[in-house]
Amino acid sequence: MQMKAAVLEKGNPILDIRDVDEPPLGDNEVRVAVEACGICGSDLHITLHPIIRIKHYPLIPGHESAGHILEMGKNVTDLKKGQRVVISAGTSCGKCPACLAGRENRCPEVGVLGFDRDGSFAERIVVERRNVFPLPDGVPIEQGAILADAVSTPYHAIRFVGELQPGQTVLVAGCGGLGIHGVMIAKALGAGRVIALDVDEGALSNAQKAGADETYNARELKKTMQDIRKLGDLDLIADFSGVYRNAEYLIRGLNPGGRYVMVGLGRGELGFSMPTYMIYKELSIRGSYGSDRRTMPELIELLSTGKLNLSLSITSMHPLSEINECLKKLDSRAENPIRYIIQPQRLN
Ligand SMILES: [Zn+2]
Ligand SMILES: [Zn+2]
Repeated sequence: MQMKAAVLEKGNPILDIRDVDEPPLGDNEVRVAVEACGICGSDLHITLHPIIRIKHYPLIPGHESAGHILEMGKNVTDLKKGQRVVISAGTSCGKCPACLAGRENRCPEVGVLGFDRDGSFAERIVVERRNVFPLPDGVPIEQGAILADAVSTPYHAIRFVGELQPGQTVLVAGCGGLGIHGVMIAKALGAGRVIALDVDEGALSNAQKAGADETYNARELKKTMQDIRKLGDLDLIADFSGVYRNAEYLIRGLNPGGRYVMVGLGRGELGFSMPTYMIYKELSIRGSYGSDRRTMPELIELLSTGKLNLSLSITSMHPLSEINECLKKLDSRAENPIRYIIQPQRLN
């Protein structure tokens, strides 16, 4: 059988929409009809601005998806045909101590769908049973799809790595596709005050709509942090910006016991000398990568009970044939987008 897919070839920033062979189904796998797949900023990093190294071409990108089960391998007995599922973005070996402990993002063979193997900008995808999570009927499929990365990555960073407690103050630095959901999650988890920081006014306006109590333009970070500190100290900073050279100004705003969590991928130095206040205040700097087994069931619960509402996040929905246009629109940011959604079942 063949299916339509958007295919990345080496050296070509434009995805080619063409027929490809469907992958075979293994005993522990499921075949899913992809109904929605979000376009992530990282998809730009393999197309228009290639900075992520891809090992195998041709590649079908797409890592934020949901759909319904078409077929199950013979060892998969707990799912039904037609069942709606979210497909997790991370891939892992399933056998190492980290995987067995449910910490798949620490697996030595950790990978990402749509980068390390074929992803979801295709009519159908085959993934392991353990990579799909049932989605209740009332939840729009496109909102389920973006749980896979745009929402689960900041959830892991804030809830599990950042250890947010109700009533605490959170600063979200960088309010693009991930950070904007950091704002929503901090509110949903009962943060007392959520402060949003970005250099882009469009992103700050999105953050305000997402429930941020205060927004600041980070252009003059030193002065901005002085202003923020005047209003009270911070317990948790979740940094999605990927720009770490000014981390010191942020970290100086933390309360005793405060956590600075780095999520956004960036190069360059953290750049500060050993500050004694790190010791006096028992501050910590932590990295956060993707998410693990704990995240998706909790997020699905928050979404289906209405504690988390992602309707603001869905900018618009498009057939597979418009994927290159959507990548360009995401790159230009002209529409101040959060997530463009591709619907691979729709060809036009
Ligand atoms: Zn992503
Ligand atoms: Zn593993």
